[in-house]
Parts: sequence; structure tokens; C-alpha cells
Amino acid sequence: MIADDEAESASNAYLLSLVLLVGGAPLPILNLLASVIFFFGARRSAPFSRWHSTQALVGQLLLIPINSTFMWMTISLLFGRRELDDFYVGWGLVMIGLNVAELIASIYAAVRTRQGVDVRWWSIAPIVDALLGKASWAKSILPAVVMPVVIVVAMAGMTRIPWTGVFHTEKVEGRLEAKIDDLVEDALDSDQQTVRDPQMEATVRKMLGRICDGARLECAEYRIHLVRDMAVNAATLPGGHIIVNAGLVFAAPDADALTGVLAHELAHAERGHVRSKLLREIGLSVLMGTNAEQALLLFRRMVSLSYDRNMESEADRAAVDWLLEAGINPTSFANFLASMADGGSLPLTALARTHPGSEERALKILDRIPAKPPTFTAALTAEEWEGFKQSLSATVTQAQ
Ligand SMILES: [Zn+2]
Repeated sequence: MIADDEAESASNAYLLSLVLLVGGAPLPILNLLASVIFFFGARRSAPFSRWHSTQALVGQLLLIPINSTFMWMTISLLFGRRELDDFYVGWGLVMIGLNVAELIASIYAAVRTRQGVDVRWWSIAPIVDALLGKASWAKSILPAVVMPVVIVVAMAGMTRIPWTGVFHTEKVEGRLEAKIDDLVEDALDSDQQTVRDPQMEATVRKMLGRICDGARLECAEYRIHLVRDMAVNAATLPGGHIIVNAGLVFAAPDADALTGVLAHELAHAERGHVRSKLLREIGLSVLMGTNAEQALLLFRRMVSLSYDRNMESEADRAAVDWLLEAGINPTSFANFLASMADGGSLPLTALARTHPGSEERALKILDRIPAKPPTFTAALTAEEWEGFKQSLSATVTQAQ
């Protein structure tokens, strides 16, 4: 017969672990700390309550790594460092199942131990026996590993199920993206500033084509928009729209420098920077209730905002590598950036304003050129480049 106070103490261990399970859910580490403190408190108590305190603790310990991992993934998700994928959903479902099982088992154990009944949890009780010296590890190890193995198998299986497809999240995201692409398309089409000239567009496309061919990128989806804007700037908008201001063309020393800027903008699109900037600055919800006119204002704002420094460095590195692969000398691109730096000969341009530290960037680009570079060919012939600038100049003056 178990003494009444011993039964109460054992029952309380399960009740406490229940409180910890619910209260500690957002911060599993608190859970662990409280359980350990409780365990040491119960260490000197009578055998019955000590055994059950240990069983409650071991039950908690199994959940802590699973709950903590989920917590960490959720934080990464909120900060945009990971996507809502099948692994996350599968992990979350197994975690919920285990926590519910633990909840029910703890309630049951709390009630039964209060009545003096010895409740032994499947696969966990042998660990407790071994920990407290009631059975040898050799005898306990096999039943003890059953639970972890079951959990690992459940995780492996559940994280492989295409949950995002099951819940249609991909479809919804696809629809949102298609809507954004339409908005950008309408906004740019209605923009009177855009130059529509097949010949000039073909020239810019030729420069872009050099990079795409050299770096083996699929570029058919990209659309170039030449804009009658004298600000020295270029930008990439969602849906593969690359905006090139006339001001940038006139400021560029040659076609190689302009091609470098195009490669840099292309890298922002290819590396998913455009999407993350869009989500950060504008948000999908805002876009959903926007017409083409408002969208144009939003996208103008987006053009004037910079990416973070890591994204800029990544875009620069990709641009240099692609230029080299395309056999275009990146030196001109680097010099162009340096010339726009703070205190340079040119006034501070929009491109330099959204791309700070141009001098430093230029040096990093030059560093990336190998000692024995490949044979370089200019992005355009001198005649093509001059002809392009003259046509563009004529269009811009005409509009004024
Ligand atoms: Zn950039």
C-alpha cells in the first residue's frame, strides 16, 4: 500500500509537468529548467514519488528537442529565413501529436498515481528503472530505444508528405504571384515614360543575351523597359521586368559598363531578392487590393529603395562571374561604380544612393577578375553603342 502523501507527491509531479508542458510551450528551455529543478527536489523523497517524478521528467526530455526545433524553425519563418515547406508542416504535426499524447498520459498518470496505482509509460518506464538502479541498462536499453525509433520514423515519414500541395498553399502563392506580375505589367504598359522602340529594345536585349548565354541562364521571361528618366538608375521589378533609365545609358562610359549593371539587376531577380524586397516593403496584402495606378506608385517607391548589403554583395559577385563567363571585361563596370561613389566626379546618383559604398564595391569586383582572364569581347561594337545612344537621345529630346 502506498502512503497517501507519497501518492499525492507522485500525482503532483505529473500535474506540474502538465503545467510546464502548456506554460513552457513557447520557450521549451524554461520547461527543461523547471523539470530539472523539480527532479532534484524530489530526489530525496520516498521511492514511489521519486520514481514518478523521474518518469514525468524523462517524458518531458523527449519532447524538448522536438519542440525547440519547431520553435527555432518558426522564428526563422517569421524572419523570412525559411519557407513554409513540407518539412516544417510534417514536423509540426508530429510535434502536436506527441504533445497531445504526453498531455493525455500525464492527466491519466496524475489521476491514477493519486489513487496509489503504479502507472508505467510504454518505452519510458524502462529508462526510469535503469536511471534509478531498479533494473540494469542491458535489460532496459531495448524497450527504451523503441520510443525514439518510433519518433524518428514518424518524423521521416511525415516530413516527406507534400503537405503544402495538400493544403493548396502553393496554388494560392502562385495565384498571388500571377496577380503581381499582371499589376506590374499593366503599370508599366500604362506608363507614358516607357520608350517603345523595337530596335532599341533589341540592342539592350543583345547585351542581356550575352550574359544569359555565357552564364547559361534562362532569360526568355525577362522584359526590358527603357524609361525616359534622366536619373542614373536601373531596377528589377517582380515578374522579370528590368527597368533601365535613359540617364543610366548616357552616364555609362561604354556598353560593357551598362551590361555590368544589367547583370547586377539580373542577379537580384535570379537570387530571389526582388521577391523578398517586395514582401518586406509592400506586402502581398497591400498588393491584392491595388489597381494599376497605385501599383505604379508602389513600384516607383520600390525602385528607390535599396536591398540589404548582403544582397548587394551577392548581386555584385554574380554579376562579375557572369560577365567573365560571357567574355566581357568587368573592369569598365567596376570603374563606372567607382566614378559614382561619394565625392566622385559625378553628383551622387540614384544608383549610388541605393547602392552605397560604390568604391568599395568596385575594388571587390576588380579583385574577382582572375590574373589570367579569358579573352574579352566588347558587349556591343562601338558603332552599335553610339547608334543606340543617339536613338535614345532623340527619343528623350522629342518627348520634352
Ligand atoms: Zn543592387
